[in-house]
Amino acid sequence: MVHNVTLIPGDGIGPEVSEATIRVLEASGARFHWEIVYAGAEALEKFGAVLPEATLASIRKNRVAIKGPVTTPIGAGFRSVNVALRKKLDLYACLRPCKIYPGAPTVFKNVDIVVVRENTEDLYTGIEFEKNKPETARLRQLVAEATGSEVREDSGVSLKVISETASRRIVKFAFEYARANKRKRVTAAHKANIMKFSDGLFLAAAREVAPEYPDIEFEDRIVDNLCMQLVKRPQQFDVLVLPNLYGDLISDLCAGLVGGLGLAPGANLGDDMAIFEATHGSAPKYKGLNKVNPMSMMLSGVMMLRHLDEKEAADRLENAIAAVIAEGKDVTYDMKPNGAESVGTSQVADAVIKKMREAK
Ligand code: NAD
Repeated sequence: MVHNVTLIPGDGIGPEVSEATIRVLEASGARFHWEIVYAGAEALEKFGAVLPEATLASIRKNRVAIKGPVTTPIGAGFRSVNVALRKKLDLYACLRPCKIYPGAPTVFKNVDIVVVRENTEDLYTGIEFEKNKPETARLRQLVAEATGSEVREDSGVSLKVISETASRRIVKFAFEYARANKRKRVTAAHKANIMKFSDGLFLAAAREVAPEYPDIEFEDRIVDNLCMQLVKRPQQFDVLVLPNLYGDLISDLCAGLVGGLGLAPGANLGDDMAIFEATHGSAPKYKGLNKVNPMSMMLSGVMMLRHLDEKEAADRLENAIAAVIAEGKDVTYDMKPNGAESVGTSQVADAVIKKMREAK
């Protein structure tokens, strides 16, 4: 069967890691028809919009996409394309497995954590009030009247919104994932001690959903304590479920535990659509240098193969990537932390393809 998949190459290092990933996916035994569409700065130049309607239409049609990272300039006037994509397509769950492959550059052992991040709300709703704007003055007045608290006049405000609907949905997703993947425990992280009406709501929803899954253990942790425990004894954690912002931060922390952003795959999932992409961003300083590690996007490709029910191709590709990591020869600079000789992005793809051929 030929799979129709939308491909968004992205910008910065995106096109290089995408090219390497497409090559290994095509060598995995699965068959694809790629529909190439654009997002971000490149799309703005070509089509006058950072997220053209044609890009959304392609994903809605194919229901599966793989995407390179897209740059979001910091500051006013440009909202994140990634956040917009996830919201517009209601890709409410961000799934980021963080597992140590033997040979990966890390001091830890036996880490195998899956981060489930809520993708649609929290501080990422994009509802913001700029300093010195009339609407910000109105908001300050409302806050003063409703709560008796003063917001300083020279403040900017970003709204943290957490709903019961989205909280229940993401916690259910985490439990369903745990059950389907024979995981034992779900840990919900929050700061409900301070943010009683937002994180408190998330925690209450998690506590309500948990008893529906008596076969899976449930616990909760305050997120600062979770950070400390993840660094001290990460092996105790299995599936983590978090609101959007903590999920973003903890994903990178967990990527660090297993060898860095070059080894951290991910997927954004809705009820009937999926976009697979690495946890890392567009690392603009490495653009065009054939330098960065394509393995996080390749491993996102492995997740996509599993999603497409291409189990054999997924195993073949994952085993080949694992073999290249274990051998430690044809790997990029980030896998050689002491400055030993490394290879470039496209040579990693060559090595992975060679391993797949040798395994036949
Ligand atoms: P980044 O993840 O792009 O890079 C941070 C550092 O991590 C890099 O300088 C590099 O040292 C390392 N790194 C990242 N990817 C690597 C790889 N494949 N191999 C080896 N090392 C790698 O984070 P940033 O610099 O904070 O963000 C750059 C841009 O990317 C920003 O505009 C940000 O908004 C965007 N971003 C996009 C996505 C996405 O498209 N999904 C995700 C995160 C960030």
